[in-house]
This record gives sequence, C-alpha cells and structure tokens, in this order.
Amino acid sequence: METKTIVSRCSASQCRFNQDQNCTAGQIEVSVSAEKAECLTFSPRAEGAAQQDRAQQ
Ligand code: SF4
Repeated sequence: METKTIVSRCSASQCRFNQDQNCTAGQIEVSVSAEKAECLTFSPRAEGAAQQDRAQQ
C-alpha cells in the first residue's frame, strides 16, 4: 500500500531532507506494510555522510 503525506517530524537524520527532525521535502511517498512505514523519498546526505555510513558497517 502506498500513500502520500506531509511529514512534520522524522527521525531519519541521515536523510538530506531532515533538518532538526523536520522533513523539508514537502510531499513524500511512504510505503506502509503491516506495522512498518518506510519513506520512499529518503535520500542520503552528501557523499561524505554516505561514506561515513559505509565505514560504520
Ligand atoms: S524525506 Fe522521508 S526520510 Fe527524509 S526527512 Fe522527509 S520523511 Fe524523513
């Protein structure tokens, strides 16, 4: 199931649209399955942050 919504708070700090837990993307797409919602608009921050993520894995 897929729906569109406007998010007021989001804890995905690695997303480039996230500023102080506020989504600045405006309208996003969210996939909702069972008890889990996943943002399909999620986009990682700049290259540096992405490389940092990989280094932590
Ligand atoms: S685009 Fe999605 S993951 Fe990114 S801040 Fe907005 S709600 Fe969160």
